[in-house]
Amino acid sequence: MGTNQQSILIIYTGGTIGMREDPKTKTLTPMNFKLIQEEIPELYKLGFYIESITFDPPIDSANMTPEIWIKLATTIKENYSHYDGFVILHGTDTMAYSASMLSYMLENLDKPVIMTGSQLPIGILRTDGKENIITAIQIAAAREGGKAIVPEVCIYFSSHLFRGNRTTKEDSQQFAAFTSHHYSKLAVAGVDIKYNYPMINYPKSKGILNINTAINDNVIVLKIFPGINRKYFELILALPELKGVILESYGSGNMPTFPWIFEAIRLATLSGIIFLNVSQCPGGKVKMGYYETSRELQEAGVVSGKDITVEAAVTKLMFLLGQELSVAQIKAYLSQNISGEIET
Ligand code: ASP
Repeated sequence: MGTNQQSILIIYTGGTIGMREDPKTKTLTPMNFKLIQEEIPELYKLGFYIESITFDPPIDSANMTPEIWIKLATTIKENYSHYDGFVILHGTDTMAYSASMLSYMLENLDKPVIMTGSQLPIGILRTDGKENIITAIQIAAAREGGKAIVPEVCIYFSSHLFRGNRTTKEDSQQFAAFTSHHYSKLAVAGVDIKYNYPMINYPKSKGILNINTAINDNVIVLKIFPGINRKYFELILALPELKGVILESYGSGNMPTFPWIFEAIRLATLSGIIFLNVSQCPGGKVKMGYYETSRELQEAGVVSGKDITVEAAVTKLMFLLGQELSVAQIKAYLSQNISGEIET
């Protein structure tokens, strides 16, 4: 490794980018990272020192689990001092969840962790994977004044760099698969890569990277819809060991005002279950108490998710429940910005 050469670690977890059609089943299945390397010889023209780690087996990200999040955080920690930046190749289906969880797990991050993937496998002529991976590496290596330009967990996809925990997969057909409804892009890659400096989080103090890998997955997402069945609603909230519920409410955080709904929530709250109110509406945010239909939720102790995405909410709840915190502390952290995931 040359002394001035940036060093990048690529962590390949799977996803369409490295998939090939299985001749027997005709379905796309993840292959080894070698395939990607063969398809992009340009990687080595970038002038960076690049190494890679392949997770065994590479997966379709629909099969993502908390264990793999822990493995990702641990891999970054173990290699942190050897590299200037990290690129994670990941399927698009759950990339926003993984990016959110990593943003909570990696404390004192001061190097880029750029996640990317593709909509078409790398071996296909029209693949979007080449541009995505090459630019993701350039962003992971970008430095100014001796410091990383984007020391955050991000998703780079189709010319746009997003804060990972503000991102949602919104399209399974177009190359622009991701969007961020509530937070500006951190960079746009055209002829030049234009960074949106005021929107990037820079660490306030210098610390050592610490990973918090304890996760509690006793969490569910409960989407509210007209005609929701009382019996199921009550049974779900009475599930043994349930610790947290993401209530996917309407509009600015509204729910039906049927007494049985509040009673079930009130009883669950008394038994220590934590509720986070997240809107089904991609735009706008939860404003509890704005309508009568959300005021009682507030009184029952439901926490407002403000402008958080469902992906960032589920992972935040799993993460906080995994730490040694009281219910009151978890509720306090849920309404605070811990990693750039909600408005301040
Ligand atoms: N099912 C794939 C995955 O998430 C889709 C993709 O990579 O775009 O792994």
